[in-house]
Amino acid sequence: MTPFVADPVYLNGQFLPLNEAGVSPLDRGFLYGDGVYEVIPVYSRKAFRIDEHLKRLQATLDGIKLRNPLAAHEWKSVIFKLIEAAPWDDQSIYLQVTRGADDKRDHAFPPLSVPQTAFAFASPLVTTSAEVRAKGVAAITVPDLRWSRCDLKVVSLLANVLARQEAVEQGCAEALLIRDGYLKEGAASNIFIVKDGLLLAPPKTHLMLPGITYDVILELAEHHGQPLEVREITETELRAADEVWMTSSTKEILAITTLDGQAVGTGEPGPYGEKMWQWYQDFKNTVMRNG
Ligand code: PMP
Repeated sequence: MTPFVADPVYLNGQFLPLNEAGVSPLDRGFLYGDGVYEVIPVYSRKAFRIDEHLKRLQATLDGIKLRNPLAAHEWKSVIFKLIEAAPWDDQSIYLQVTRGADDKRDHAFPPLSVPQTAFAFASPLVTTSAEVRAKGVAAITVPDLRWSRCDLKVVSLLANVLARQEAVEQGCAEALLIRDGYLKEGAASNIFIVKDGLLLAPPKTHLMLPGITYDVILELAEHHGQPLEVREITETELRAADEVWMTSSTKEILAITTLDGQAVGTGEPGPYGEKMWQWYQDFKNTVMRNG
């Protein structure tokens, strides 16, 4: 069976087998969810938009006042070693930094002498099958119960976990998060809608994760002359959309064809999503595979 995590993994300056990598039960990632993470897709052994991912990691670290244990060039060296050692050409690199383990439990930050925990590993990049893509997927809407710094990629993901579990229990692929009557994003994806040929994207605010795929889609829309508006989307507009897409590094662009049991548009993946998917594939094969 293909393992989900390649050996070696990286932990605090060392490369070692997963079953030899351990952290203290007093680690603040474990006690408080006090940490950050990043997921970087790798195509043909080239890390895609590595600088942007490391920038987003730094923005999240700054947002929670946690020092970055590694300089950008050191992260790159760790990432390149993991990619080289893993058996797959297309991968997903996971990075995590927590505020480390003090010798007691206290909400306030530990002394600066307590080192951060830095962990990273490679997995195979699992993309959507052609059959699933051809039909699209079902999604539900749920109230967005997260905190108000959703722009930070922090490991405390309990609200996202509960939202996604609700989707899974209803046989759905994603939960769309609605806050104060507006669509924000999915539990683990950004969401776009199409209405009368116009592509609509919610703006990057503190209530949405700035997705790297989201940026690629905005760039592709602009490059190909696809009419686009970045603005808040109401729940009513979401329900009246011709097309709804979820996007992420691993899902790429995936049509949501059923929402809360109702067909989205015709109930099949629409032409705009198909076009964007093709632009994305072309971009992947010409640019992403070159890093
Ligand atoms: N929003 C949330 C809440 C996410 O967890 C993710 C990543 N899974 C995204 C959006 C998409 O981000 P990216 O395109 O960088 O994968």
